Amino acid sequence: MRPDYTDIRALTDQEPLWFTIGGVPRYAPFHPSMLGVYDRSAVLVNVACQSCDAEMLIGDGAAALTLHRLAKGEVEEITIERFASRWTCGDPPRHNCPGSGETMSAVELEIIEAWERVDFDWKRRVDLEGAFRDE
Ligand SMILES: [Zn+2]
Repeated sequence: MRPDYTDIRALTDQEPLWFTIGGVPRYAPFHPSMLGVYDRSAVLVNVACQSCDAEMLIGDGAAALTLHRLAKGEVEEITIERFASRWTCGDPPRHNCPGSGETMSAVELEIIEAWERVDFDWKRRVDLEGAFRDE
């Protein structure tokens, strides 16, 4: 279950435009530069609550030097292709769910935006955007 950010939500009557993966409400239009300073991959994903079907946009990023240790002790670089294809939301942001959806993993629906940082410039990767495939 994500932290409760009603203190931030109480500062405005506006609905958040998107949330961080940690459930923090954001009110400016998404851009990957609003995520981690070392991120090299970023996505904005539409997800749905399993309980009430509320849809929310989640922005998340990963640093290229985040090396993922595999069971065999190997390491692999996080590319935008790998990050986008394996992205999962986990619990959705708090949304006054009438059911128990805040404790249930959200359903990933569609990658709205995918970005890759090359040197210091963020480049859109529209080839990675679109609906998640059931696999
Ligand atoms: Zn819900």
